[in-house]
Amino acid sequence: MKCKYKVVVVGLGVVGSASLWRLSCSEREVLGVDSGAPVNLSASSHGASRIFRRAYWEGQSYLPLLSQSDKLWRELDRTCSRHLIFHTGGLFIGPVTSGVVPKSAATAQQGNINHALFSAERTAEFFPAFHILEGMEAVYEDGAYTIAADDSKLHMLNLAVRNGAEVRFGTSVASIIKTSQGLAVQFGGGELVHTERVILSTGAALGNTLISDLSGLLQPKSVPVYWFKPKSKGDLDFLKGFPAFLYQLPDGRLLYGTPEIGTEEPGVKIGFHNYQQRRFDASTHAQPVKDSDVEQISACVEQIFPGLNSIPFASKKCIYTMSQDESFIIDESVDLSGVFYVSACSGHGFKFATGLGDVLARAALNGFLSEEVSMFYASRFSVNNK
Ligand SMILES: Cc1cc2nc3c(=O)[nH]c(=O)nc-3n(C[C@H](O)[C@H](O)[C@H](O)COP(=O)(O)OP(=O)(O)OC[C@H]3O[C@@H](n4cnc5c(N)ncnc54)[C@H](O)[C@@H]3O)c2cc1C
Repeated sequence: MKCKYKVVVVGLGVVGSASLWRLSCSEREVLGVDSGAPVNLSASSHGASRIFRRAYWEGQSYLPLLSQSDKLWRELDRTCSRHLIFHTGGLFIGPVTSGVVPKSAATAQQGNINHALFSAERTAEFFPAFHILEGMEAVYEDGAYTIAADDSKLHMLNLAVRNGAEVRFGTSVASIIKTSQGLAVQFGGGELVHTERVILSTGAALGNTLISDLSGLLQPKSVPVYWFKPKSKGDLDFLKGFPAFLYQLPDGRLLYGTPEIGTEEPGVKIGFHNYQQRRFDASTHAQPVKDSDVEQISACVEQIFPGLNSIPFASKKCIYTMSQDESFIIDESVDLSGVFYVSACSGHGFKFATGLGDVLARAALNGFLSEEVSMFYASRFSVNNK
């Protein structure tokens, strides 16, 4: 390992890995560092699958970054001998009058995104695995897909290393220091590397370590996720063509899920997006999912997926790092200029990683953040004077 780099990326979850990949396309003097393993079970990016959708109920303002991210996911997929994106489509179900269905449809119309509005009867006809509750309909986005999450992240790292980047796992960064020539990154063991710029993508740790900009603004949550299998072999048939989905229940709870896309995680993955979130506590995060949580999701699965065995055969926990408005935060540190930080979670950041990595790479090489991500600046919380 050298002792001087143009850019150091601290935190190699999906956002840091994407940043390193994009950086390495035009700059060889780059280093990526992570305290964990390449597939880090105690962070947010691990697992077989994530949903990519553009009929974004969260708002039309995400559309430009979604388009850029989509383009780069497809580019990434083309460079890999294995499939990284699976064209599963996306089905978004919920009450007709409010929430996910009208909001997804509005974004799709605004963004000219191919979609169809399905009545309950049509949904049942095309997607028999789903039971549609009274007063509900669906938006189907044909171009939505399921990303092979671990494989994609590892492929970005492979490409980065092939392009000349260096990576170091199992190495924690203890501090970032201003020097007369730029910045220095100090590892837990005391070793120091010098750099012009830093991309800080440390996930749940971003709010309370290395910089003070986001102090008090991020709340890491422990969230369970579950896997379900069909009740019988006969039910396997209707799981063919099973899409990535969102299902908003009448009481507002929002379920998400992905089909099986490989052998890594068999069965249908299902979790609550806005429920069963508990304050992250490292001492309890590794404990098994609570029985009461399993009972709650089983009751929902029983109701809306008649062909699935409602008792999950596997469950585990992951981390959502929530911001106050459930959107991302990207900015340059006020105290440490040249440090560009990114918190891209609130449970929906994976799909944006390629686009964000590209923006961050350009920021680190040019020395300033592009206006295209101004909606994510930290100044919206009035924490800095930018
Ligand atoms: C169950 C679940 C399902 C999800 N589903 C979707 C979905 O379908 N679609 C979607 O778009 N998004 C989804 N998300 C959200 C998405 O996975 C996250 O937004 C994304 O993974 C965040 O990535 P990250 O790189 O910011 O953080 P992380 O993956 O947490 O990476 C941060 C890294 O920083 C490292 N680190 C921390 N501190 C240090 C330090 N001091 N020194 C060195 N390294 C350090 C950590 O080891 C870690 O590897 C889901 C999330 C979960 C948990």
